[in-house]
This record gives sequence, structure tokens and C-alpha cells, in this order.
Amino acid sequence: MSAVNQEVQQEVQQQADLKGKLKEVFGYGQFRGVQEDIIQNVIAGHNTFVIMPTGAGKSLCYQLPALVLPGTAIVISPLIALMKNQVDQLNAFGVNAQFLNSTLSKSEMNRVKRDVISGEVRLLYVAPESLTKDDTIEFLHKATISFVAIDEAHCISEWGHDFRPEYRKIRGIIDNLGANVPIIALTATATPKVQQDIQKNLQMDDASVFKTSFNRTNLYYEVRPKHNTKKQLIQYVKQHKDQAGIVYCLSRKKVEEIAELLRVNDVRALPYHAGLDPHVRMANQDAFLHEECDVIVATIAFGMGIDKPDVRFVIHYDTPKSIEGYYQETGRGGRDGMDGDCLMFYSYDDIVKLEKFNKDKPVTERDNGKQLLQEMANYADSAVCRRKQLLHYFGEVYAKDCGFCDNCRHPKERFEAQAEVLLALKAAVQTGERFGLDHLGTVLMGMSNPHVVSYGHNSLPVYGQGSGHDAQFWHSLLRQSLLNGLLAKDVENSGVIRVTQKGLDFIENPHSMKLTKDHNYDEEVKEEQQQEDVQLAAGHDEALFDMLKALRKKVANQKNLPPYVLFQDPSLKEMATTFPTKMEDLAHVSGVGQGKAQKFGTPFLTLIKQYVEDNDITTAADVVVKSAVNKSKIKIYIIQQIDKKMDLEEIASSKGLEMRELMEEIEHICYSGTKLNLGYYINGVLDQDRQDEIYDYFMSASTDNIAAALKELGTDDYTEEDLRLMRIKFLSEVAN
Ligand SMILES: [Zn+2]
Repeated sequence: MSAVNQEVQQEVQQQADLKGKLKEVFGYGQFRGVQEDIIQNVIAGHNTFVIMPTGAGKSLCYQLPALVLPGTAIVISPLIALMKNQVDQLNAFGVNAQFLNSTLSKSEMNRVKRDVISGEVRLLYVAPESLTKDDTIEFLHKATISFVAIDEAHCISEWGHDFRPEYRKIRGIIDNLGANVPIIALTATATPKVQQDIQKNLQMDDASVFKTSFNRTNLYYEVRPKHNTKKQLIQYVKQHKDQAGIVYCLSRKKVEEIAELLRVNDVRALPYHAGLDPHVRMANQDAFLHEECDVIVATIAFGMGIDKPDVRFVIHYDTPKSIEGYYQETGRGGRDGMDGDCLMFYSYDDIVKLEKFNKDKPVTERDNGKQLLQEMANYADSAVCRRKQLLHYFGEVYAKDCGFCDNCRHPKERFEAQAEVLLALKAAVQTGERFGLDHLGTVLMGMSNPHVVSYGHNSLPVYGQGSGHDAQFWHSLLRQSLLNGLLAKDVENSGVIRVTQKGLDFIENPHSMKLTKDHNYDEEVKEEQQQEDVQLAAGHDEALFDMLKALRKKVANQKNLPPYVLFQDPSLKEMATTFPTKMEDLAHVSGVGQGKAQKFGTPFLTLIKQYVEDNDITTAADVVVKSAVNKSKIKIYIIQQIDKKMDLEEIASSKGLEMRELMEEIEHICYSGTKLNLGYYINGVLDQDRQDEIYDYFMSASTDNIAAALKELGTDDYTEEDLRLMRIKFLSEVAN
């Protein structure tokens, strides 16, 4: 047999062995995409760089070689939870994998080290922090290492979304291990800039790079302005009943609030964040995996390393911090290849808030954070195909519009921009291709600042040629020129924009170019609001409203109470809009509350039920947002102190409140249906006669408005505070 033949034979044999291992250990019959090429490359001892979107089977690219090669593979992983998850999974497959981190006791650590040195362990997971420790390095010198895998390698790059300084030391440590240990670096989030940074830092310019497309064709991308967000969320989730979904929020507090909101609206939802007790967190995660809960509300920590194939929607309740993060989180939807919805609620206020979080960070980190946020805002504001924008961000060219995103489904009108694009390109050329969006916009608009003057750009031919448009217009146009490949970002110099060959050709031979204007969400929200107002105005059922008013009058007469004490007009109007037919639904009508619903609700419910039946009305109950019973800590404190008959001034000062603020809190408590006994305090400030006079007034008045009461009773004898105190006493006694 010739040598060549033998080599081919060997390769065929090896392929068969790999496939056999894949089936035997992991149970898969086939490799996905370029997995096999990557695995071959690692086994051949080459440095390998893998850029693959979440869910495409990255981990197998180092797990399988670790089984085939002699020695132990070191896997550097950023999160302890992630390590544990992977080690558990591998152990379940019968693979000897271990981790070395701070959760282990001294004796456990020694056992792991012994097993590694004896060669039993196929994969050892470590955090970069433990890797830097002297005794770890000493121990690794005694072990046989097959290769080093660096998972979530974007952590190396200060341009990635979760930069970890310790990651920057990895190269030095690997060198310190002596031999020529091959490296495989893997990431799901690499822009061209991040990719370059990783390779540079790991000194693996020679690596074979495997990059698979980031296009997830089955995901639908949509951005909505934050407006009635809770209502939109509930509406959405109810329309996707019994489907699994993730809702991401930026803070733990928000996670708790939204999980509770969904629960009171009859959605099986659970919270997940780092502040929860580990057992609770684990139980909630399991409930989601085992379909005992449909929706998990989480901070971004959720989902790393979790493989649930049938997540049908991923909602960003808050605007995410970076496109990388957003893309990775949305990537958890539709892993089974069926459709997944990615809905993001956007508000520029969120961007501003996030920028404030960054303010205490070191300067470079802060600047990077700001730039990532700006990219996020640009993505949200743009009316260009979302998929085109996302893929461009990850360095892929996607020429057509996708037809499967909100901007494609509801396209904005395009305008002819040939002349403006030409101007923008000329501005880049004339300023020497050394500047960013802001500066080009400033020059085009003919505005002045020290930069413009010091470079003499105010004497360029393009200076002021675009003064007919504002900065937003030029920024949007420049960004679209980037997307269209006429301009390109300089990878070496952050923020600098260059003109591409395609752009130079355009300057030579300009042609028609249709662009879109950015979304104007303020305007869109205003229009929506107007529509809602019209709907609401026309929304309530006039006939039912009249019947409810008549009933209120009748009941009030029977009970000898003024009608407003039962329910006020806005509450009746809401009933005539949402048609509550159950006690709990009635309690959620604004201004009603549990107490009032129980006390006065029954005849009203009977009336509404009858009316709904007679008129064949489908109730809109599923879009009514039931607000979570939100007795904040301070309210609970106030209720407790009043129960103990504490002086109101003392309560106020102990919580640092003004008396006026305390009154507002108390009124809020009272109007949500809680009975408060303020008699002990009122007796000290108002004599019985005056109390009676105010009480009688409220009993006969047609409204509980304080200004009206002051007018009737006179400001000589009473202060506003007197009346407000008595109103609480009165409502507590007769209404709650
Ligand atoms: Zn599209």
C-alpha cells in the first residue's frame, strides 16, 4: 500500500472513529455544520478560533477532541454555574469531567488534582482566576495537557460586552505551562473588532478561523417603544398561552415586579436572578425546563449554558446594554428550528439610565460601554431591516431585506438620497478619512467647534452643504451608508470611518439610492395614544354605564350613603369598558380594591353579568392589566404604626417624610381599600363637634373633592389637613 493511500485510509478510519464516538457518547448520528472540520483541526494540534452563534453546538467542538486525545483538556470558563452545568451534563454522558473552583473544599480539590495527574480526567474546567494561582500552575506542570479551550472568549476583549481583566493574563499562563499547547478559543459574539482583539491578545494570528453565519432565519425581530409596556407584555404573553418564553429585565427588582405582575394576571411565571436563594433559583430554573412554568422572568444571568429547545419568545422588557448581549439572549429562542419571536421594548431613557450605571467605571470601560449603548440605540431607532443590521454588526453582508422583521413587515416610506449620500461620502474623503459620524455630521451641517476650526474643515468644499438637515438625519444616513458598504468602520481606530471601493465608485458614478428615515417613536407613541383615547372615549358602553349609575344611586339610597362612597364615576366607566364578571376582576378595577368589591360589589356584578349575557358581549378581560398588590415596605410600616396608634408626626419624621407626603401615602392606602383607624389622632387635633360637622358634610356631599369641601365648610374653621384626615376616617368607616 502506498504512503498516500495509507494516509487516506487513516483519515477515513479517524472519521469513522469520530462519528462512532459522537454516537456512542453523545447520541448524535451526524455532526452539525462545520463541527467536524473544527474537531479535526483541534485533533491535528492547530490553534483554532471558533465563532458560532449560541445554540449551534460550540461545546462539542472541544468536548469530543478531549475524549480522543491523550491527557486532560483544560477548559477556561467564566462562570461557576456554567461550569457546573457542563460538568453535570458530561458526567451524565459517562465522561470524566471535573471542575476546579472556589466551591470545592481543600480535600475535594486534592482529589481532583490527583485524578488529573493520573490521567483519568478528560476535561478540567477552571475559572481564569484560579488559573492564575501559583499552586494551580504548579499542579498543571505535573499533568499532561492535551489542549486549552477558552470558552466565551469575548470576555478577553474590552470591546466585548462582559470584559474580564483576568482573561487578559491567559496567554502568559499557557506559555508558562511549557510545551506547545494548542488553543481553541470559542465565542458566540464576535464583531470584527472583538475578533481581532481576541486573536491579538491570545497571539493566535496563525489560528484556523471557523466562522458560521449568525443568521437565525427562524427568529422574528421586533422593537416597540416603551408605552403601556405592562399591558403590551400581558397581551403578548396571553396571546402565546402555554408557550415557553423568557422575559429579560435589567434589575432584580424589576424581575420580581414583572414576575409578580404576570402571576396575578394568571400567567405561570417565575423569577430568576442572582439575588435569589440558590435553591429557589435552581428550583425555578428546573420548573421552567420541566414545563411547570411557562415564562421565566430573568436578569441576563439566565440562560447561559441552558439548552431548552422550545423557547417560543424572548422579550426584552428593558433595553439591553449591547447588541452582543441582545443577540445572545434572543439566540435562546427557537433552538428547535421552529419560529421564535424576539420582542424588545425600547426607550431612550433606558439608555440614559444605563449610561449612569457606567459612570463609576474606569475611563476606557466607560467609553466602550457608551459606544455599545449607542449602537443599541441606533439599532432600535433605525427603520432598516433588523436582520441586515444585526448581521452587519457581526461582520456579515446580508444584501437583501429579510421580510421577517418588524421593519420589513411595516416598511417606512423611502426617499431618494443620491445627492445626500454623495455629500456624505465627499465629506469623509475631504476630511481625510480620519473622523467619525459626529464630526462628519458637524462639517456637513456647517456648524463650528474647536475641532472643525483647528483642522480647517470650515474651509472645505462640503462644509455647510448639508445644512438643510439635522444631525439625526446625517447620522442615520451615514449609518445606512455603512450598512450598504459605501463606508466602513476602521477596525484599528475605533470610531473612524473610511470610504470603501464601492463608495469611491459611487462618487465616480452616482446612482439612485433609496434610504429610510429613522423611527420617531415619540411621534408613534403620540399617535397610538390618540387612537387609544378615541377608543377609550368610544370604549365604554354608554347603556351599561347609565344602568350602573342608576344601580349605584339605588344602593346608596338604601344604605343611606352618598353615591360616590360606593364607586366613583371613573370606576363605573371602567366597569362599562372591561365588563368584570368575577369578584377578583372587579377588585382590579381602579379605585375599587378588595374591600370595596366585597362590601358593595355583588349587585354590580350581577348587573354586569346579565348585561353581558343579554347583549352577547365578549369580555376584554384578558387585556386588562391587573396590578400586583404592591404594598411597598413603607406602606406596611405606616399601617403597622397606625395600628399601634403612633403619632403621625412621629411616623413621618421616622421615615424622613413631610407630613404632606405621609398624608398622600395614607390616602393611597385608604383608596386601595384598607381600613385605617385614625380616630386616636384626629381626637387630638379636632373636637367632636367639628368632627361631626365634617363627617356630615361628606355624608351629604356629591363628591369627596377637598377643594369643594373647603369651600363649603370655610377655611376659617378648618385646614386642608383636617379635612383630609376626616375624609380618611369617613371612607375607612363607610367605604372600606
Ligand atoms: Zn428584515
